[in-house]
Amino acid sequence: MKKRHRPQKQSIKERIRNFDEVSHGLTEQDAIEEAKRCLQCKKPLCVAGCPVEIDIPAFIKKIAEKDYDAAIKIIKEKNVLPGICGRVCPQETQCEGVCILGKKSEPVAIGLLERFAADMEKEKQIPEIKEKKATPVAVIGSGPAGLTCASELAKHSYPVTIFESLHLPGGVLTYGIPEFRLPKKIVEEEIEFVKKLGVEIITDTVIGKTLTVDDLRNMGYKAIFIGVGAGLPSFMGIPGENLLGVYSANEFLTRINLMKAYKFPESDTPVNVGKRVAVIGGGNVALDAARCALRLGAKVGVLYRRTENEMPARKEEYENAKEEGIEFHFLTLPIRFIGDENGYLKGIEVQKMQLAEPDESGRRKPVPVPGSETIMDFETAIVAIGQRPNPLLTSTMPELKLGRLGIIVVDPETCQTNISDIFAGGDITTGAATVISAMGAGKKAAHSIMKYLETIQKT
Ligand code: FAD
Ligand code: SF4
Repeated sequence: MKKRHRPQKQSIKERIRNFDEVSHGLTEQDAIEEAKRCLQCKKPLCVAGCPVEIDIPAFIKKIAEKDYDAAIKIIKEKNVLPGICGRVCPQETQCEGVCILGKKSEPVAIGLLERFAADMEKEKQIPEIKEKKATPVAVIGSGPAGLTCASELAKHSYPVTIFESLHLPGGVLTYGIPEFRLPKKIVEEEIEFVKKLGVEIITDTVIGKTLTVDDLRNMGYKAIFIGVGAGLPSFMGIPGENLLGVYSANEFLTRINLMKAYKFPESDTPVNVGKRVAVIGGGNVALDAARCALRLGAKVGVLYRRTENEMPARKEEYENAKEEGIEFHFLTLPIRFIGDENGYLKGIEVQKMQLAEPDESGRRKPVPVPGSETIMDFETAIVAIGQRPNPLLTSTMPELKLGRLGIIVVDPETCQTNISDIFAGGDITTGAATVISAMGAGKKAAHSIMKYLETIQKT
């Protein structure tokens, strides 16, 4: 059996000093050969493994036949953000995780092929949209959930407006995931496609502040989708967290991505990370922050309280981070940030941990090893231990049913909230999750909204 093809990558020596994309994807020849590895199963499991149900064998067949226009057309019937998903989806637990080839050898590189088809598309093909219906829908938030919900509605001729609080659309795709994993040009191009479907995007508008949900109803919107994500960083609650040099990953990455702090010295808001940076956490956010700090010239250590086996970050990105020289300190928990006389961070007191029995999340619980405290020297610390929903919008809607940590409770089949004209999906309903799960929810919600609008029109 032929081996899976690997992407071309920027050399390690070069990439640790720039923010350009690390992976160059598959060459045309490799993509064609990789596409030929697909067994074209009659009952493909990969399709069900993809939350937006792309017809994977069909688009792969078209790549094998060098018909790239047809390949991207098939993908876009189900997914309006293929260049993004091909780059950041956790394929190993989605479509590729169930690919039958994976049982005996390695799964087909579905994500890389999706990226290849997206990157080969020269001119974006816009599907024909019939005359607009008379029932407009408002979407709050322009992350993957909002963009997908809006596109699906627009494809079905509904007038849709997205309201976004920031000055640029895209959510985490724009302000969180760094350029070297997801070039902003790709995000901009795919959002441009969403706009060409007829979706209007209004930025700099915070719903719950600039406008309320009732204002949206009064403006004539007949249904509302909330896709405001989970953008509020969690903190550790340990002494010294207010010292200068201690950042949340959210602030750090936003400064890098949205405010272009990495473009030193042109940037108005540069970030000075010093020589030694600690990143606390073991997820994608932690690794993105660590790799940004490395590119700003620092020596970076990731402090994680469990082991590499429990790390939630994508395996590929963990491998990239190790290759680039990020140090990993496993079973290590910060218990105190230590400042100098001017209030700047100079070190972190850490405690060694050991793993006990699995906790309610199914992962083995870390417990402290008594007497194992030591001090590590760092000038910057970036806390990346998770995000929660921001209550800004939901606190203005007292009748909306909320769950644990302020997530919006929805019917999992329909994404409808306890208020009939309000639907929600993505991180605001699950807590921090993935791009494709947010997109899956956005799509499901769009179909429920269409059903809801048909029902109210009949009554
Ligand atoms: P978001 O992407 O958070 O978008 C929500 C949008 O709503 C934002 O633009 C926000 O500004 C806007 N908004 C918020 N409140 C309001 C309001 N009141 N009014 C108007 N607009 C509002 N997932 C992966 O699958 N693969 C990865 O590699 C990956 N890496 C990640 C790296 C980082 C650094 C981070 C932070 C997350 C990563 N994720 C990854 C997770 C993924 O990005 C999220 O799960 C996904 O973006 C959630 O989509 P969403 O649409 O629900 O919310
Ligand atoms: Fe796989 Fe994600 Fe593409 Fe779906 S969108 S086929 S899960 S890579």
